[in-house]
Amino acid sequence: MNVYLMTDLEAVAGVKDSLQWCLPTGRYYDTAKGLLTEETNAAVEGFLAAGARRVVVCDGHGWGGLLPEKLHPQAELITGPYPHLVYPHGFGLDDTFDVIGWVGQHAMAGTPGGHLTHTGSFSVLEMTFNGSPLGEMAEFAYMAAELGVRSIFLSGDQAGCKEARELVPDIETVSVKEGLSWNPGLDLTEEEAETAFTAARHLSPQMARDRIREGAEKALRRAQEDPAMGKLELPPPPYTFQTVFRRDKDGNAGRVYSRSHPDSFIGLLNTPDQLHSLGG
Ligand SMILES: [Zn+2]
Repeated sequence: MNVYLMTDLEAVAGVKDSLQWCLPTGRYYDTAKGLLTEETNAAVEGFLAAGARRVVVCDGHGWGGLLPEKLHPQAELITGPYPHLVYPHGFGLDDTFDVIGWVGQHAMAGTPGGHLTHTGSFSVLEMTFNGSPLGEMAEFAYMAAELGVRSIFLSGDQAGCKEARELVPDIETVSVKEGLSWNPGLDLTEEEAETAFTAARHLSPQMARDRIREGAEKALRRAQEDPAMGKLELPPPPYTFQTVFRRDKDGNAGRVYSRSHPDSFIGLLNTPDQLHSLGG
């Protein structure tokens, strides 16, 4: 089987916050990248042990989250920055893949008990797809579903794993940390949100990797035995997408953007946003 593996930096064991760990100006940015690379390699090892033919790793963290020189020798790497409005090919995803997995995936903005929760960026309060809240995992899971690619594995924080199982009930998940911030922070500005949701209880990086290796192998074995495992149905069209931004420093409500497409989720992602309301 051909495996596409999406990665993100925030929900890796040991990664503490956004400013010092996930941005190039942060003191521990390279440490965080090393931690993600090792978790990624653990997943690659698990998939290969289960017989994967090809594992393509996408560096999904905007600033870059992986150390290419430390990547598993048998993995291929997709790097950004990703072209705007070129889903899914700009991310190297297509229908030659059988399954998709995630490493380091955090929960959507506003999730109580999540660690470093956000959706795309800390400026976003909420994204919705046909009226239901949509996180980063769901965005790729629906895109993959439209290509016939099944969602079989996710590691990240406990809230991120729960979000994945709510969308794809039989997905294999591995939690590597538990956020301890129970305030969803819906009233925070972008600047406040960027420094919030940092409290967490982490597994040791070694334990996280062991569990990820085991979980990825189990996921791919299950997917090979059961052709329905990880299958996600798209809701009936037409499709609508809305993005609500956080309030600004002066307390004005954030802008709202929306778009629609008659019959394709990928088409919806590639449709330019229309300003829906100015906020304020
Ligand atoms: Zn993210």
